[in-house]
Amino acid sequence: MTECTAITYTAKDYKSEVKPVWCPGCGDYAVLSSITKAFADLNLEPHNTAVISGIGCSSRIPAYTNCYGFHTIHGRSLVVATGLKLARPDLTVLVAGGDGDGFSIGGNHFLHSCRRNVDMTYVVMDNRVYGMTKGQPSPTTEADWDASAMAPPGGTGLTPFNPLAIALSAGANFVARAFAGDPNGTAALIAEGIRHPGFSFIAVMSPCVTFREEQRDWKNVVRKTETAPATDASEAAKRLLQDDGYNIGVLYKGDRRSYKPVTGTGKTVADLDAQFAL
Ligand code: SF4
Ligand code: MG
Repeated sequence: MTECTAITYTAKDYKSEVKPVWCPGCGDYAVLSSITKAFADLNLEPHNTAVISGIGCSSRIPAYTNCYGFHTIHGRSLVVATGLKLARPDLTVLVAGGDGDGFSIGGNHFLHSCRRNVDMTYVVMDNRVYGMTKGQPSPTTEADWDASAMAPPGGTGLTPFNPLAIALSAGANFVARAFAGDPNGTAALIAEGIRHPGFSFIAVMSPCVTFREEQRDWKNVVRKTETAPATDASEAAKRLLQDDGYNIGVLYKGDRRSYKPVTGTGKTVADLDAQFAL
């Protein structure tokens, strides 16, 4: 993470001239603002910050920021981000995308990014639907949801994927849930995730007001968790068993060492630590 000491940045400094084309009321507007607020709160240098995405409505985000970035291919954002972070460990790398991109097409990369624990932050705007392709069920869609013409009658009948449980069990070092309707709280969680070493995963409940209009009601059901983050994965897992999906805050903060490549150059792990120390 490269904080700047000579200039004080504001959230506006991280926004590009490109105007978002999301539907009016989409939760992703607020998440974009939360990301730029988090960058400003950390006073990151825009030219030392990279935003990487895959494909989908939320994956448009790199174009709306003034940072470096890649709008990559479907499900592969974490792979590109991993390569970038390993080649340029001095950069702050934030990956942004949706539930279809991240948990279906990119599901395998999600697992192994948690396991690999490279020092970057993954923000998933989860609206439990494929919005860009007009309303197909995603891995987080409720089993009986069939309100879209693109969903099977009666729903898929499939148990939804639990992103926090998967991230925790696969080894993510920071696991949190946020809500787009709480942009300041989301910004604080993203900033905390960036600061925390290793792979930080933040699932943001971000309503799709076009295909999941009922998600407007999320504002009436989310609650901020009162409990301090678990530092023990089994304690975090116990909390998830009691979780109804509407608690927002940090679930888990671990202390696993971030991934450092072993290059076969004869360098010791201590040499590599010194080389990649941030
Ligand atoms: Fe947002 Fe849904 Fe519109 Fe996509 S389709 S921009 S997710 S409201
Ligand atoms: Mg989605």
